[in-house]
Amino acid sequence: MTESDRLLRLRTALSSAQADALLVSQPESRRYLSGYAGRDLPPRDSAGYLLVSDERAYLLTDPRTEADARAQAPDFLVQVYGDAKPMPELLRDLVVAQRIERVAFEARHLPFAMWRELSDALEGVSTLVPTADLTDGLRAVKDQDEIDLLRASIAVNDAAFAHVARHLRAGATEEELAWELEQFYRTHGAEDVSFEPITVGGPNTAIPHARPTERPVRSDEPVLFDMGARVRGYCSDMTRTFCIDSLSAELEHVWNVVLEAQNEAESRVRPGMTGAEADAVARGLIDRAGFGEAFVHGLGHGIGLEVHEPPWLTRRRGHNVLTPGMVFSIEPGIYLPGVGGVRIEDLVLLSEEGAEVLCSSPKKLRLQEVLSDLDR
Ligand code: ZN
Ligand code: ZN
Repeated sequence: MTESDRLLRLRTALSSAQADALLVSQPESRRYLSGYAGRDLPPRDSAGYLLVSDERAYLLTDPRTEADARAQAPDFLVQVYGDAKPMPELLRDLVVAQRIERVAFEARHLPFAMWRELSDALEGVSTLVPTADLTDGLRAVKDQDEIDLLRASIAVNDAAFAHVARHLRAGATEEELAWELEQFYRTHGAEDVSFEPITVGGPNTAIPHARPTERPVRSDEPVLFDMGARVRGYCSDMTRTFCIDSLSAELEHVWNVVLEAQNEAESRVRPGMTGAEADAVARGLIDRAGFGEAFVHGLGHGIGLEVHEPPWLTRRRGHNVLTPGMVFSIEPGIYLPGVGGVRIEDLVLLSEEGAEVLCSSPKKLRLQEVLSDLDR
């Protein structure tokens, strides 16, 4: 599917939102719809905005990124704002020329100060209408081009995991392991990490979003890698927890519970379930094992141009119904503060039959088993 097919789907969604045009400020949605990959320095410095009506599709940007915008977004009319004509004035001119009465904007993404500037500029001309999840909703279901890019990103990530597992030794610091991964990504087809790698050991594994430190990892403790690459904008995300030699009996038990919950969720998730129902599959198993309180986050999240995007597989936000074409993580975890934690995460592609697991890295308890799986 090309960007112009995506525009078509957006226009259909737009008519049901009772607006004549949509102003897109969210950078990944901007890229998804137009192909333009400009980078924001949020929230102060935007690399551009889209204005999509039934007849026209404009890309508003400034002179620094005009050439990229023209080259990357052939379906869009590029308009340049700057000192002579700031963005709000340019928007007003376009809205007046097209007689747009209602301009939808992304309420979750447009900063309040910017909203106020735009309201002032559009006063007496057009009304700003808040919308939620219009483009986000389209992005939740991946088209074939996106699935291909996600698979490419995941392939780099699996290769990076094999690389770091083969180089893992007791005594390596958490920071060194992170750097090992980052170097690998940049020299093996990824333009970036999708998030700063979490490469931690021992008690730090009990912190779900821990940051790597100068601490050396030991052979008798859990080592956790939560890692992802970015390939042409598309993110991968995978977690593996294992040990170099041995784990305490308590943590070995925890590891088995997490793996079972993860496998259970992967084999039982189906289209038609809500995200919350999928979460409940793994949560029920972890509850029954007595670790319910220690599973402190949701089961998973959608992934694509953003690392975390709809759908949500959580209790609080998981009202979204899972449908074929969605790609999301399945990542239960159990965290025992001061002791250690285990999280195991795959990305899956949902089809009518269920979940296809996209990550191929081994899920084994000991490094030796991981390495022999990798060599098979
Ligand atoms: Zn992750
Ligand atoms: Zn994740």
